[in-house]
Amino acid sequence: MNVSIIGTGHVGLVTGACLAERGHRVLCVDSDEKKIRSLRAGRMPIYEPGLQALVRRNAKAGRLRFGGTNADAVAFGRVVFLCVPTPPAATGGADLSFVEAVSREIAQSLGDYRLVVEKSTVPVRTGEHVRRVITKYARKGRDFDVASNPEFLREGAAIEDTLRPDRIVIGVETRRAEMVLRELYKPFGAPILVTDIKSAELIKHASNSFLALKISYANALAAVCEKAGASVTEVARGVGMDRRIGPHFLHAGIGYGGSCFPKDVAAFEAISRELGYDFALLREVQRVNLEARERFLKKVEEELWIVKGKTIAALGLSFKPDTDDLRDSVAVAVVRDLAAMGARVRAYDPRAGEKAREILEDVTICGSALEACSRADCALLLTEWDEFRRLDLKRVRKVMAHATLIDGRNLFDPDRVRQLGFTYRSVGRP
Ligand code: NAD
Repeated sequence: MNVSIIGTGHVGLVTGACLAERGHRVLCVDSDEKKIRSLRAGRMPIYEPGLQALVRRNAKAGRLRFGGTNADAVAFGRVVFLCVPTPPAATGGADLSFVEAVSREIAQSLGDYRLVVEKSTVPVRTGEHVRRVITKYARKGRDFDVASNPEFLREGAAIEDTLRPDRIVIGVETRRAEMVLRELYKPFGAPILVTDIKSAELIKHASNSFLALKISYANALAAVCEKAGASVTEVARGVGMDRRIGPHFLHAGIGYGGSCFPKDVAAFEAISRELGYDFALLREVQRVNLEARERFLKKVEEELWIVKGKTIAALGLSFKPDTDDLRDSVAVAVVRDLAAMGARVRAYDPRAGEKAREILEDVTICGSALEACSRADCALLLTEWDEFRRLDLKRVRKVMAHATLIDGRNLFDPDRVRQLGFTYRSVGRP
């Protein structure tokens, strides 16, 4: 099937490449010409394991192409995916101006039947607006359907998640739209859940908010464990062994970040309020999340007393491992807070160093963990990259001015680290 992707970012690029891998012909367009040029040259604008090989293989086979206008995308694909950003608006809701602008463009170039699919994360009832905008701006009688097909991929595991998803949710209003999407996803062999559009839109916000809620629950548990002298790791393990609860997303730390959870929880809270329901639970999730970061910073202050003038090593900057995505990263927020307090921050991230240089002017970006820790008064573990698990802590201790390690992700074994001579603190563990 011919498929077009409008917005070739984290979601659009991975979706396009995976659809091509499953045998479809895919055209990816984007308003960022630099991005398209780099993709045409086989260079990835983002770090995602396995992406470069996948893109190059499918481009070479002629199934995956990059470039052109949004009108070209409408002309090419029977299915047109909207994968544009839906950033937070000042009101806390989602800024849907990209979705609206692209819907208008689609309308203006609509010829034969097209299925317009929202893949961007949008508040419930956005599909109605998209349909209304297209009807308003298209020539009379143009034939199209709108559908919702929310994306659940995790950055860092995006390709595996897209090729082998737990489920594919499609929200449709016509049998024709359902059949087109069933055919498109047939080669994926995954369970397909068909709903109405509004329910599909809600499934995405509800899923991300629930995952964020689990993280905040673990962070609240960590606070209680610290007071009681218990271990949140053990508590979470015991809780997670209950199959009704499950072990995932019960890790205490410095809070959730990234380009999705913070904005999606805020947008879900805002749209619920707009619809007349006060989803106070979600505000509490946000409050506990912020509190996790503040509690971590307090530990740094307790260890250093005066932060100003101290050298602090920050290990990890991306919002989670295996990605170079720094958007709304809690690690970045922590580093910024400490720099603003007058600390000299030396940071290292296995993949996000280059991108970090562009946004963290007051921070020294180092080429290795050891270099970042050199002469540091304190080291902070902020992102749980595998590379840090294998860190030679003996050498780290030797290069530091003072062997203090504050672990924001509970990556290290407290006994082992203390045996090596570190003053060690983590989250919710005695
Ligand atoms: P992104 O910023 O990486 O990509 C969006 C792309 O759209 C950019 O390349 C941008 O240049 C392009 N774009 C903007 N306006 C355009 C226009 N008018 N015409 C053509 N292209 C345009 O964002 P993303 O992370 O891929 O997220 C996209 C959507 O998917 C968001 O709604 C997000 O919430 C959702 N989502 C993201 C993830 C994730 O892990 N990143 C997962 C699930 C859902």
